[in-house]
Amino acid sequence: MTVPMSPVSQIHHPLFNQHQIAVYVKRDDLIHPVISGNKWRKLEANIAEAKASGAKGIISFGGSYSNHIHALAYACYQQQIPVIGFIRGEPSYADNYTLSWAKHWRMKLVFVDRQTYRLRDNLEYLTQLQNKYPNHLIIPEGGSNSLALKGVAKIIMELEHQQAFDSLLLPLGSGGTLAGLINADNNQHQILAINVLKGANYLYQQVKSLLPKHYNDEDKWQIVSGYHCGGYAKFSSDDLAQIQEISAITGIPLEPVYSGKMMLALFDLIKKGYFPKGHKIMLLHTGGLQGLGGMLERGLITEDYLKVIQWPVPPVPPAL
Ligand SMILES: *Cc1c(COP(=O)(O)O)cnc(C)c1O
Repeated sequence: MTVPMSPVSQIHHPLFNQHQIAVYVKRDDLIHPVISGNKWRKLEANIAEAKASGAKGIISFGGSYSNHIHALAYACYQQQIPVIGFIRGEPSYADNYTLSWAKHWRMKLVFVDRQTYRLRDNLEYLTQLQNKYPNHLIIPEGGSNSLALKGVAKIIMELEHQQAFDSLLLPLGSGGTLAGLINADNNQHQILAINVLKGANYLYQQVKSLLPKHYNDEDKWQIVSGYHCGGYAKFSSDDLAQIQEISAITGIPLEPVYSGKMMLALFDLIKKGYFPKGHKIMLLHTGGLQGLGGMLERGLITEDYLKVIQWPVPPVPPAL
């Protein structure tokens, strides 16, 4: 299960010309038609580890529309590894867009209440879980563990042969992607991680804890806050309209949870004169377009939006 190289393309917008800035996109959304993006990058070494160690199965955690759960279910189905997803919420969520696909790929779903879900990184809870499921590989929420860094490093290796740039922008969730990029990039570029969560001060520590060596404060990476649009997976109709317009002009399909907020941050930073003339910016498109299926289902986006961004949501599958 090797992740293929993703292409890089330049995008155009009058604002970029006005500020004499070149913008490129590393299209990790194109690495697979179904499980696009960074979740597959992060899972690659985890799946290999599960196979090499002869694990009986994999266990992981996620919300009911989780890109990680969706990608993990597919990857395990491909590799014929039994997998259990601990999902935050009610059993009635099992028929939603994302979880219908997870079931289609034979993931076993266990629904836990919010209180229990909060224990997902608690050592005692994880020990209990490991005792209950011996020989299972437990992967944290979002797939962000030290094994994930290896797969993410390939993004930097690919970029070395693809396009020179000064700054790398990416959306930040659980921190595994950022940690992997920092570690592989070795201070060659400025890395700006756009925080899509509100008030997530713990993330700085979390990213540092994933890094195998110490990167001090002079290092060229930072977490940029102020672009969460109200909180994780929250956005206003105005935010969505802006994202849709950027998508239409640039030809890049965007969703409003990660890549859309990264774009809003990019445009705002350029307008504020953050980047000097002649600067080359690389955006990492982390995929996650499957999330649009759940947003459509909940009426958070319309069919029109999907038409504009030219990303037809794959229909819910029949049960296997
Ligand atoms: C999970 C996710 C992220 C965040 O990546 P982390 O490694 O969790 O920080 C960004 N974009 C998409 C589409 C995601 O699904």
